[in-house]
Amino acid sequence: MTDQAISHTSRIPGFHKLPVAQRIDHVAAFANLAEEHRRQLALPSNIDTVLADHMIENMVTTIAIPVGIATNMRVDGRDVLVPMATEESSVVAAVGNAARQCYEAGGFTTSMSGTEMIAQIQLLGLPDPARARLIILERRLEIERICNACDPTLVSLGGGFRDLEVRRVETPSGEMLITHIIVDTRDAMGANAVNSMAERLAPDLAAWTGGRALLRILSNLADRRVVRARATWPSAAIGGAEVRDAMIAAYQFADNDPYRAATHNKGIMNGVSAVVLATGNDTRAVESGAHAFAARTGRYRSLTSWEITAAGDLAGTIELPLAVGLVGGAVKIHPTARALLAILQVKTASDLARIIAAVGLAQNFGAMKALATEGIQRGHMSLHAQNVAFAVGAVGDEVAEVARCIVARSTINEAAAAAALAELRRAAP
Ligand code: NAD
Repeated sequence: MTDQAISHTSRIPGFHKLPVAQRIDHVAAFANLAEEHRRQLALPSNIDTVLADHMIENMVTTIAIPVGIATNMRVDGRDVLVPMATEESSVVAAVGNAARQCYEAGGFTTSMSGTEMIAQIQLLGLPDPARARLIILERRLEIERICNACDPTLVSLGGGFRDLEVRRVETPSGEMLITHIIVDTRDAMGANAVNSMAERLAPDLAAWTGGRALLRILSNLADRRVVRARATWPSAAIGGAEVRDAMIAAYQFADNDPYRAATHNKGIMNGVSAVVLATGNDTRAVESGAHAFAARTGRYRSLTSWEITAAGDLAGTIELPLAVGLVGGAVKIHPTARALLAILQVKTASDLARIIAAVGLAQNFGAMKALATEGIQRGHMSLHAQNVAFAVGAVGDEVAEVARCIVARSTINEAAAAAALAELRRAAP
């Protein structure tokens, strides 16, 4: 295969049948990867012990998670190959399948509300919280100066302090005054950046108001960093009106029942967290933000919504906060995260967030369609069957053979796999 033979499309029929080395060739040619990134992807255990030891405390080893490429993704008119790090079978395939079914209709269209993060400063012991609130709001220019002085690099890149909010919060131990500083963190996720500002500002707030400053930390409910994605799946491409209507009923169930919504949103996060992890970003920050956002009306609801268009097609939308970066944290230092980011060819953190939102919507389509039609188990368990075969000791060609056998017998568990493996070995010449 030559580089010229690979067109710049995310539609790669048969990608899953290629040997791993050829998949890397494909991705490297698609994204015009630098040789160092290509080499990095080919290393199965790809983080240096010295680097890992610097990243966290008490490091003893690393754990490798497979990274798959979601094909067929078209986001804002651009074909993208999306790296996804996940230990769960069928997550990558579900995204590729969902994206294929809306590719011809244009793929995904996205937008982003901004790249602003919120840091909170908690003030206690104020006898006059209403007056204290106004005293803080009056100091806005001074607060802006203090915050921006903490991070001249961020300011030079067009980021920095943007806004101020002061909220009175009733609690069982009395009223607290909570100051929000709102900071544009541009291409950084921004936690360290805004935490430093909050810590620097807190003593001044206490001095101005006569209160006592306690917590000074960002909010992961990053609702000024909301990403939106939409796509339309033509009814004919998804199996007709019956499938479409079943999917709408599945969505309505999730949006109106928190027990179902938790699982529905978990499916969305299967896609979202896999790209967040692959790009070296903070999965917990994104997950807590998404779930808090899903509960913002006071009831935990679906992160997506689904409707029938005037033409009778299925329209899906997703909205969620996505605090992800291209600099800061582990993003810049983990060599594999850098190589995987290079595949995405994104220039800004917003571009990355938009792709992640599109993946979340695709994942939700895939899960809802499977659940509302054949059930999740058939597709999921046939992929899972290979893991079960591995778990009972199958090697080489035995893995596919044992998996095929237990799928055919509709008993996908370790006992069945062990029996199938024993039979296979007995029958071997
Ligand atoms: P960081 O401080 O490592 O990097 C951000 C800094 O990089 C900015 O302050 C700026 O000075 C500089 N910079 C250079 N180029 C930039 C650009 N193009 N755009 C923006 N800034 C640029 O990292 P961070 O993003 O502030 O923090 C992220 C880390 O904080 C993650 O590792 C996360 O896990 C961790 N963290 C998270 C939480 C939480 O989510 N609750 C709390 C604490 C820490």
